[in-house]
Amino acid sequence: MNVHARLAAAVLILGSIAACSSEAERKGEPAAPTVSPQAAVASGAFPFHIGTLEAVALKDGDLALPNEAGQSPWPDPDAIRSTLRGAGQDGETIHLSVQPLLVKAGGRVVLIDTGAGGQMGTQNRLQASLEAAGTAPAQVTDILISHSHGDHVGGLIANGALVFPNAAIRMSAAEWADLQSQAPMADLVRTIRPKVETFTFGAEIVPGITPVALEGHTPGHSGFEIASGAERLLYIGDAMHSSVLSVQRPEWVNAWDSDSAAAIATRQGLLERGAAGEQRIYAGHFPFPGLGRFQRRDDGFVWVPEPAARP
Ligand SMILES: [Zn+2]
Repeated sequence: MNVHARLAAAVLILGSIAACSSEAERKGEPAAPTVSPQAAVASGAFPFHIGTLEAVALKDGDLALPNEAGQSPWPDPDAIRSTLRGAGQDGETIHLSVQPLLVKAGGRVVLIDTGAGGQMGTQNRLQASLEAAGTAPAQVTDILISHSHGDHVGGLIANGALVFPNAAIRMSAAEWADLQSQAPMADLVRTIRPKVETFTFGAEIVPGITPVALEGHTPGHSGFEIASGAERLLYIGDAMHSSVLSVQRPEWVNAWDSDSAAAIATRQGLLERGAAGEQRIYAGHFPFPGLGRFQRRDDGFVWVPEPAARP
């Protein structure tokens, strides 16, 4: 496909193209097209800024869990149903999105988590979303892994080869040890091993991005604080899964957590500190694009997505 055909296809995919940049017009530069939030959500690539950093939420797919015993990580289908209905859902299915995050920081192109690679019934959309964001896999310089579950590392390889051939793959030492201990991950571990570098919590990995320990989900589970000037975004990994259940019922045991007490304490801490500080959050399993804040309501908390992020 030539450049013009690709552009035409991109326009079709993205739908409406809004007004030109007046700053670009003043400088006499070609105007960059601006995509409406709705069109960006539909394209699977939702661009936003953290201070001066460019970021893009990248849709990989959806998980739909039947609300039946043993089909979701929460134990009580009746309690799940009533909580979801209280949030305006039908309560029969638990919907989780899967959305890695792209950040351009200090000359680096950073991908945080890699989606499921089509596993677990997901749609394997990450590559199409990355293309919609204007980034090729070979341009990614750093991959940061929150933890070693399949819906976060599954996109690292395809057909036995690295999907992002030029990227260092960074995770905590405890998470790398955990990944190597999983027999079904042997092929993935062998393929990525030459690219893996471990990081230390609290030490900046690339300019503006610092891993933070969010304990309980897996042995070395990591969030990432992304900072530019006075602005901050906290990527919370799988400290929470559902924008309703994990936020309104943080005390519920989640069978996907390896240390339940620690995971519950992490959720409650994130909610309390997040609501008190109006912390901007990126949640990889909340409704796309997963941007918003926690807010106190009654004696608990609710998730408040950013206005532009609402479908
Ligand atoms: Zn996950």
